[in-house]
Amino acid sequence: MLSRPLVMIPGPVEVEPDVLAAHAAPPRSHLDPAVIAAFGRALGQLRALLGAPDGQPFVLAGSGTLAMDAAAANLVERGDRALVVNTGYFGDRFGAILERYGADVRHVGAPVGGAPAPEEVARAAAAAPPRVVTVTQVDTSTGVRADVRGIAAALAGSGALLVVDGVCSAAGEDLRMQEWGLDVAFTASQKAVGVPPGLALLVARPRAMEAFRARRSPVPSYYADWTNWLPVMEAYEAGRPAYFGTPAVNLVMALDVALAGILREGLDARVARHAALARACRAAVRALGLGQVPLSDAVAAHTMTAPRVPPGVEPAALCARVRDGGAVIAGGLHPAIRNAYVRIGHMGGTTPGELLATLGALESGLAACGHAVEPGAALAAAARALSPA
Ligand SMILES: *Cc1c(COP(=O)(O)O)cnc(C)c1O
Repeated sequence: MLSRPLVMIPGPVEVEPDVLAAHAAPPRSHLDPAVIAAFGRALGQLRALLGAPDGQPFVLAGSGTLAMDAAAANLVERGDRALVVNTGYFGDRFGAILERYGADVRHVGAPVGGAPAPEEVARAAAAAPPRVVTVTQVDTSTGVRADVRGIAAALAGSGALLVVDGVCSAAGEDLRMQEWGLDVAFTASQKAVGVPPGLALLVARPRAMEAFRARRSPVPSYYADWTNWLPVMEAYEAGRPAYFGTPAVNLVMALDVALAGILREGLDARVARHAALARACRAAVRALGLGQVPLSDAVAAHTMTAPRVPPGVEPAALCARVRDGGAVIAGGLHPAIRNAYVRIGHMGGTTPGELLATLGALESGLAACGHAVEPGAALAAAARALSPA
């Protein structure tokens, strides 16, 4: 029996035993041959994960927000226009970061639970041509998946750099930098990649690196400046050590193991597994008589589900009762609907059994909160959705 409840939030997520073992080993020197080899492999695997054979990977000690910060700091100069495709809290955050670096930021959004259509994004970009467009592929505050591929196609030839926040999507959703024409994409270790928190993982493709090299002003962040990190990443990938700031050695060792596992599963199979889990989770939510934050299944993420709570049920109380049942789920994050929904993460190595355990805890938690549920209804709906047709 687990000595703790299952962690089923949109990050951190459950970590595979081989990844945990790599993380738990005594720290080696950052100049140790085993670290150099693992770091070099991890960089190459990150390129593969994000579909960017021509991209420059960066693995930095920090959370996903550091990846957002690095993208903005290295690509934006004072007075540049930026367009944020905003589907929730993390779009707001990207806008705030871009403003901090001097960008003139506009947002193109949608009602809560929706996502702007690619044509709307293209119209907004045509009205005031931006240097940078950011898209949150899955906004963790709404569980809404934006159409990154469609937006990239609609912006093709506009000259804007397309930056994708894939923190709640990479390694769980389809995300293909080169094929779709994305310039920067990033994630963080603790989401669908399945490593403990602490690494920002970013890939910049050639147009982004050229824009960075052509800057007229220095990057106004010392730690996030690619000038400092590029020689380090290039050295490790070439099998040589280099130093700017001490790498998070244990997390890098764990990342190497996690990325190898992801590529072994196969990206298509992994995306299909996440889609199947999401379908099952939504089926269960419907069977419980609950709505969801995304306005349609077409914009609902595969990495998480955002069920609305029934009237009279407090999300915090529900989360506590679900935890009593053995699973940790998260409360709301979007300020406009914070008390109206909860969030279930099903990303990374999540198995059907773990999802079913979580849905069982959700059922019993709802009952404990006074919402009448038919025992087993959610589980039956999920099991039906999971069984091969
Ligand atoms: C979690 C998350 C972030 C922020 O990552 P941290 O590791 O919490 O800093 C940014 N964007 C999205 C979409 C996320 O889900």
